[in-house]
Amino acid sequence: RAKSAGGNRFELADPEADARAITRHGLTTALPAALERGEFFIEYQPLVHLGDGSVRGAEALVRWLHPQHGVLSPDRFIPLAEHTGLIVPLGRWVLEQSVRQARTWQERRGGADAPGPLRINVNLSPCQLTHPGLVQDTVDILERTGVEPDALCLEVTESALIGADDDLLKPLRRLAEMGVDIALDDFGTGYSNLANLRRLPVSVLKLDRSFTQSMQQFPADPVDLKIVEGIVSLAHSLDLAVTVEGVETGAQAEQLRILGCDTAQGWYYARPGPPERLHELALVDATG
Ligand code: C2E
Ligand code: MG
Ligand code: MG
Ligand code: MG
Repeated sequence: RAKSAGGNRFELADPEADARAITRHGLTTALPAALERGEFFIEYQPLVHLGDGSVRGAEALVRWLHPQHGVLSPDRFIPLAEHTGLIVPLGRWVLEQSVRQARTWQERRGGADAPGPLRINVNLSPCQLTHPGLVQDTVDILERTGVEPDALCLEVTESALIGADDDLLKPLRRLAEMGVDIALDDFGTGYSNLANLRRLPVSVLKLDRSFTQSMQQFPADPVDLKIVEGIVSLAHSLDLAVTVEGVETGAQAEQLRILGCDTAQGWYYARPGPPERLHELALVDATG
């Protein structure tokens, strides 16, 4: 093709890059209509207490059922939605849907022997943090659904808060004062100053999957063990809970439990799935 193209200056050097670019562009322009048409849906992945194995809640993970491309993972479209600002209405939709879902789980589970109400974790993009409506939208959603603020955890990535000034932290502080938990997602992938943690209105550290992966070998790398041990003890001394992501094996779960992590999430327990799935897991769990 390149040969026959001769002097055609419109011929592209890298057709694959072009296809990707077209898809990116196509996806970007299709986003607003997709939200209106209800092409997004949410899967939920359980959060499990490492001490007793009980399901304590779930993280909401958005997907796009694209009419041509099938189910798209958030890594494909969240960056595009952030770029165009659509993340604000999309994020609000995810928050409302997930909190409603939490309410349904809470009603179904009930039971005095249940270890507290099922909680819901929702991811926030940096753009949502700077959007002035965040606090009021959250308050409205909690009021409409009757879910207690302390059953909601908002996850913000470490990189979004690196070097954050007070204006950026203000809405998070307001939410934290109301009782909403703020989690630092993908912790350990950025290079935030650990002392900086004291300044952030954060109550949970979500240790990145890369740490969990390094617990796969037995015996685990002694340096990795020391690092996780150090993070956990620092977190606990600052009254932060530690959640681990990406637990795929029982050995990892056991190692991370011994290291003092509080909660775990990963394929070992369950893949992200429809809300009914969590229902089954949590109900089984609550009745022993
Ligand atoms: P995250 O918040 O760190 O979510 C964890 C990711 O790890 C999810 O990928 C989940 O499916 C995956 N995961 C869970 N357990 C395992 C495991 O055992 N092994 C492996 N290999 N992976 C596991 P997913 O669903 O593709 O989401 C990717 C990212 O997209 C999320 O990372 C989050 O940053 C973002 N995201 C998802 N939903 C939303 C949303 O509603 N709003 C925003 N702003 N971002 C979202
Ligand atoms: Mg997350
Ligand atoms: Mg994460
Ligand atoms: Mg992650």
